[in-house]
Amino acid sequence: MLFPAGTVALVTGGVKGIGRAVSVDLAHEGAEVIATYRQDEEAAKETVRLIESAGGRVTVVKADASDEESVRELFRWIRQTYGRLDVLVSNAGIVRDRHLITMRTETLREVLDVNLTGTFLSCREAVRLMEHHRSGSIVTISSAAGVYGGQPGQTNYAASKGGIIAFSRTLATEVGRRGIRVNVVAPGFVETDMTHGISPARREHYRSKIGLGRLAQPEEVAYLVSFLASSRGSYITGSVYDVHGGGFVVGDLP
Ligand code: NAD
Repeated sequence: MLFPAGTVALVTGGVKGIGRAVSVDLAHEGAEVIATYRQDEEAAKETVRLIESAGGRVTVVKADASDEESVRELFRWIRQTYGRLDVLVSNAGIVRDRHLITMRTETLREVLDVNLTGTFLSCREAVRLMEHHRSGSIVTISSAAGVYGGQPGQTNYAASKGGIIAFSRTLATEVGRRGIRVNVVAPGFVETDMTHGISPARREHYRSKIGLGRLAQPEEVAYLVSFLASSRGSYITGSVYDVHGGGFVVGDLP
C-alpha cells in the first residue's frame, strides 16, 4: 500500500468522475478518505458503497468548494475529527462553455469561483493544518486546457485551469521548507459527465488526434494522483503532469 495507517486524505468533488476514481484509489492504497460533494447525494452514497465494499474507509461530506465559510467549516471538522491532513486533492471543477462574445461576466465568475478560488480556499486551509505536522502533499487538478488553451468557448475554463497551474507552482515555493509538496495533474479528455455531452463528430475528431486513439478512463488519472500524493513522490514538487494519451487537440472541427 502507498499510504501508512492513519493517513488522512481529502478529495474535493470526490464522489463522481475523476474525483471518485481518486477517492477509490487513495482508499485502496490505505488512506482514510474524506470526499466532498456539492449536491449529488446518490453519487456520494455510491462512492461510500464502492469504497467500503472493497474494505476501504471513507466519509462523504457536503461542502461547497467555492464557498469560504463552507470550506472553513469542513476544515474545522477535519481538525476536530482527525487532528491532521496528509493529502489534499483539489479536484472540484465545472465547465460553462460559451463563446466570449456572448459570455456573461457571471459565467466567468462562476467558473473562476469553483475552479480557481475553490483551489485557493482548500489549499490555504490545508496548508494551515499540514504545517502543524510539517508534512503533506497537495495535488491540484488542472486540465490540458490550462496548459495548451481550451476549446472554443472555454476562455473562462482555460483561464481558471491556467490559474491553477501558476497558483500551484507558486505555492510549492512557499511551503516546500515546511515539508509540504504541491503538484498539478493536467488531464486531456476523460470519460466523465463533463465530457458526455461532446457530439459524436467532435468526439471522433478528438479521438483521431490522441496518440492512444481513445479518451482516458478516470482511473488512469487517479493512479498518477495517488503516486504524487504518496511518499513515492517525495522529491517532486512544483511540477505539472500531462495525462492526455499522447495528444490534445484544440480548435474547431475542420
Ligand atoms: P464531473 O462533473 O464528473 O465531476 C466534477 C466534480 O466536482 C463533481 O463531483 C461535482 O460535484 C464537484 N463539484 C463541482 N462544483 C463543486 C463545488 N462548488 N463544490 C464541491 N464540489 C463541486 O467532472 P470530472 O471530469 O470528474 O472533473 C473533475 C476535475 O477534473 C475538474 O476539475 C475538471 O475540470 C477536471 N478535468 C476534467 C477533464 C475531463 O475530460 N473530464 C479534463 C481535464 C480536467
